Amino acid sequence: MRLPKFEYVKPTSTEEALAVLEKSGNKARILAGGTDLLVNMKYRVIRPEIVIGIKTIENLSLIASNGDGHTRIGAAVTLSDLNDYEVYYAIMSDPPPGPVVFQPLPWPLADR
Ligand SMILES: Cc1cc2nc3c(=O)[nH]c(=O)nc-3n(C[C@H](O)[C@H](O)[C@H](O)COP(=O)(O)OP(=O)(O)OC[C@H]3O[C@@H](n4cnc5c(N)ncnc54)[C@H](O)[C@@H]3O)c2cc1C
Repeated sequence: MRLPKFEYVKPTSTEEALAVLEKSGNKARILAGGTDLLVNMKYRVIRPEIVIGIKTIENLSLIASNGDGHTRIGAAVTLSDLNDYEVYYAIMSDPPPGPVVFQPLPWPLADR
């Protein structure tokens, strides 16, 4: 099933994304991973005229500790980045053993 036509916007800052959202009102939707939005668009459940990709906004893909025991996880951080043991052990004080978010597949799911 094909996606309906839409305008794709790739902002490089949150300010730019918010400006597009403010201007477009409910005609625009944000796209992160797309697993939910793109399926709903294909089935015509949602028909946004404008889709705002947030993967091009660098600081939304960052996981950073602010030094007071809190960690900021950007809105475009992927599950696979979050599942990274190093990141997980850095942000959790008492992590349970094993993978956090999902069990990684032992083979690649698809080529990029
Ligand atoms: C086949 C299938 C299986 C799934 N299995 C699971 C599962 O096992 N567990 C589970 O929890 N979920 C599951 N989901 C649901 C889906 O993974 C979740 O809805 C997930 O949150 C989608 O993330 P995404 O980054 O792909 O979001 P997108 O599809 O990009 O966006 C989802 C919605 O959030 C909005 N949005 C995205 N980013 C932002 C933002 N930064 N600010 C404001 N709004 C935003 C979008 O406009 C859209 O309306 C499944 C979905 C499908 C299609």
